[in-house]
Amino acid sequence: MKKINFLTWILIAFIAAVIAGAVAGPAVNVVAPLGEAFLRLIQFIIAPLILATLVVGVAGNGDLKKVGRLGGKTVAYYLVTSAIAISIGLGMGFLFAPGEGVDIAQENIDEGAAQTEGTDGIVDTLLNIIPTNPFESLVEGNILQIIFFAIFLGIGIAAVGEKAQPVLRFFEGFSEVMFKVTSFVIMLAPIGIFGLVAPIIGDHGLGVLLPLMNVILAMVTACLVHILVTYFIAVKALGKMSPIAFIKGIAPAAIFAFSSASSAGTLPLTIKNTTENLGVSKGTSSFVLPLGATINMDGTAIYQGVAVLFIAQFYGVELSVMQLLTVVLIATLASIGTAGVPGAGLIMLTLVLTNVGLPLEGIALIAGIDRILDMFRTSVNVIGDASAAVVVDRKEPLDEEVQAS
Ligand code: ASP
Repeated sequence: MKKINFLTWILIAFIAAVIAGAVAGPAVNVVAPLGEAFLRLIQFIIAPLILATLVVGVAGNGDLKKVGRLGGKTVAYYLVTSAIAISIGLGMGFLFAPGEGVDIAQENIDEGAAQTEGTDGIVDTLLNIIPTNPFESLVEGNILQIIFFAIFLGIGIAAVGEKAQPVLRFFEGFSEVMFKVTSFVIMLAPIGIFGLVAPIIGDHGLGVLLPLMNVILAMVTACLVHILVTYFIAVKALGKMSPIAFIKGIAPAAIFAFSSASSAGTLPLTIKNTTENLGVSKGTSSFVLPLGATINMDGTAIYQGVAVLFIAQFYGVELSVMQLLTVVLIATLASIGTAGVPGAGLIMLTLVLTNVGLPLEGIALIAGIDRILDMFRTSVNVIGDASAAVVVDRKEPLDEEVQAS
């Protein structure tokens, strides 16, 4: 057992699931509870893990200015790469024109019917980041609010200094405990992945995918371009790391993300890979990655670009340059507001469609294959976070020096 490494186990589970799904068809759904149980296990880890790691990430260093600089760089990197991602998604949407000539049984939709004004959505999304009651955020698992709370808590701890050391110690111990709990859950990943993937193949078969094959192709190509061009250049030029070593080091997390479709659930593994395989300091990882798992979703951004063009083409709507720019802006915001859980990107797509005046019904067109697109976008989400950790850590690693200054 021990001889076969974890990554191999995940691959075996994945291939076994594809075979089981193809052979057994919908009957393979009997294993779905295994996948569901695994997702629930992942989900219960997320809120306490993010709270503890972020508090330690901000306060553990004791140098708030440094944390501030790091935070600025991180957010800038996240925003720029997300905007590039959407542009690549739009580009592939034009190139592959996946929505032209698609014939999916669909009621004729009155184009104007679904248009609503949607700017409220953005303002509300931003306002919603501020919790009115942080304990409620924890109870509800509202990750953006938890991040907001954790950063302030961390700043508070660092500002108080000596007297707050017991609080910091508590969070340090707590985050260690959460890492341990996580490693137990991750050991179950091969079983969980089998339970998640087999029903997808069993339900969809491969034939159903054909009419939408171009959407998948456009998505996969855009993801590859983003990884091979954007991340590889960033990692090489800014992070001074070999892109091959980078992709090898983050592969287990990327595959885990692919199977689970949850970047928040992958977070523990992302942290493990970046610190152990990519040599990023623990301090930087515990600051950059929890933040990224929530606000940095390049794969989701790519998906928004591809999906918007697909839907526009399907309805025969020509998008103006102004509308395309709107897509870039709104999709960047939407990808920030997307939770790192399966299917979240599809819901955020409504925000983008509303803002460019495309029919919301378009969502139904790709909902059927959303899970497959989700697998690709989640992998990119996770690889993107790791690339940020490598780039940001290069110049000034954030070490946990616990001593309050
Ligand atoms: N499933 C994605 C993630 O966890 C979010 C999305 O649906 O786009 O990163």
